[in-house]
Amino acid sequence: MAVSDHVDLPTFMEGVKKRNPGQTEFIQAVQEVAQDIYGFMEDKEAYHSAQILRRIAEPDRVVSFRVCWEDDNHNIRVQRGWRVQNNNAIGPYKGGVRFHPSVTESVLKFLAFEQTFKNSLTGLPMGGGKGGANFNPKGKSDAEVMRFCQSFMTELYRHIGPDTDVPAGDIGVGGREIGYMFGQYKRITNRWEGVLTGKGLEYGGSQMRPEATGYGAVYFLENMLKHKNDSIDGKTAVISGSGNVATHAAEQITKQGGKVLTLSDSGGFIHDPDGIDQEKIDWIKDLKNNRRGRISEYVDEFKGASYHDGERPWGVACDVALPCATQNELNKEEAKMLVDNGVIGVSEGANMPTTLDGVHVFHDAKIMYGPGKAANAGGVAVSGLEMSQNAERIAWDNERLGNMLTDLMRGIHEKCVEYGDQGDGYVDYVKGANIAGFKKVADAMLAYGVV
Ligand code: NDP
Repeated sequence: MAVSDHVDLPTFMEGVKKRNPGQTEFIQAVQEVAQDIYGFMEDKEAYHSAQILRRIAEPDRVVSFRVCWEDDNHNIRVQRGWRVQNNNAIGPYKGGVRFHPSVTESVLKFLAFEQTFKNSLTGLPMGGGKGGANFNPKGKSDAEVMRFCQSFMTELYRHIGPDTDVPAGDIGVGGREIGYMFGQYKRITNRWEGVLTGKGLEYGGSQMRPEATGYGAVYFLENMLKHKNDSIDGKTAVISGSGNVATHAAEQITKQGGKVLTLSDSGGFIHDPDGIDQEKIDWIKDLKNNRRGRISEYVDEFKGASYHDGERPWGVACDVALPCATQNELNKEEAKMLVDNGVIGVSEGANMPTTLDGVHVFHDAKIMYGPGKAANAGGVAVSGLEMSQNAERIAWDNERLGNMLTDLMRGIHEKCVEYGDQGDGYVDYVKGANIAGFKKVADAMLAYGVV
């Protein structure tokens, strides 16, 4: 193979920007990874000459399709759906489906790119993908959500399969939506197979899957603290979001003796100085999953708490912070506020919730900072175990899966330390996650030659 002229990092990024005009989230995600990988590849000609990073930053394919559905008033509605299959070097494409009005091709490309490294970090054989639609399930009836999901799957089914691509839930896609989509897949193909994860326990879902991402983010935090001979017990925590990841993160913080001060949604945040304990978390889960209400309703139920309309929670003083809502929800100024208020650890339940300059604030302050691709990998890891159980036609119990999740998160933390330890007691977890995630995918791609 010919020795290439290495392009330097700025030139590489110029190319990414030129080929993906206006795709700011995708460019941001590639930039964050490329700056670490360039250092790692410096003395590794094989990766350069095979153009490995350039190839990982070009999705294998992006499928875009029309999704028509009829609302309850008999209006015909048209949405756009996508599936981004980023890389399947180490296993079938795997990654969630997001239904939210903010979904664009750029957002899904960034998520599929990140997913490639995250899935590699789990140690399980899964490639990276992501999908979704610019559909807003909020305010829709169950029948409307069902019709949308069925229409979405009527196109998606031809691009997925248990050994091809296995989607899961994400923002706006929970148990209800997975049920409707799996039902439609089964109807069209006449096959019952593990083509989606996050399924209900009655039809092939895995124990621990709903809890896995939020619990995993807390286990990652626990491992970072343990590395410094510290623990979660007695710590105050600020958490954003109030969906699947946020409520389970809150639950695990509470189990480990921490005190959760905040939760939020896109309308604002609640601050409860008495702590959001298990009883309150159960109330929020019911509010969000069954009554489909807003977090602002919390203050009517629990006196002593306050609601902050249109604000994010990062100004509340705390020991640890867990952003668990969405991308770019924590900026430079908010990162500074957290550091000035004495935060010692940040573990990201959401994907890329901290902006790039916010990440620099955490690095400069040398606090423990666990990026989403490592800290929230527990969800996809248990999804991988759901695939294994479906393939074996077996269901493992809660205890076994709980132990597997804690082991997986410990393993991910160890890999981050292996490649991110700076030798002065500081662990650069972003660098560790990027390099460990990249290496396995890159080596598999080298083995395949130019494909
Ligand atoms: P949910 O839909 O269950 O909850 C999302 C939460 O985030 C809601 O409280 C929602 O508020 C809030 N939110 C969404 N968009 C915004 C916004 N633009 N501004 C402020 N708040 C917002 O999703 P999940 O909990 O499943 O996902 C949360 C994050 O975790 C995402 O980044 C997702 O990619 C990531 N993740 C999820 C995994 C999983 O297993 N579910 C796995 C790995 C990562 P509202 O109700 O007002 O929209």
